Amino acid sequence: MSGPNALDKERSLLNDDPKWQDTNYVLTNYKTEQCKKPPRLCRQGYACPQYHNSRDRRRSPKKFKYRYVLLKQFSKMLILLFYLFIYIFFFIPV
Ligand SMILES: [Zn+2]
Repeated sequence: MSGPNALDKERSLLNDDPKWQDTNYVLTNYKTEQCKKPPRLCRQGYACPQYHNSRDRRRSPKKFKYRYVLLKQFSKMLILLFYLFIYIFFFIPV
């Protein structure tokens, strides 16, 4: 098999989902989800956008960012609680 379309055909075989053509999608999702194919049946190996084992796995930048935002919100809440505590102790007459 040869011709100008041979490479494109191979490419579409590697990325059967059109979302993998989007660079941003690849950057945030590459190797963050487990490959749905049985390990020995997936011939894509490194080219496969999903991970096959824990060594292949990548931490999702999206999830990491989410956890960071949660942590920031939690610390803000703690500071608010601290002020509320001070307010209750010093400004409310018994
Ligand atoms: Zn795979």
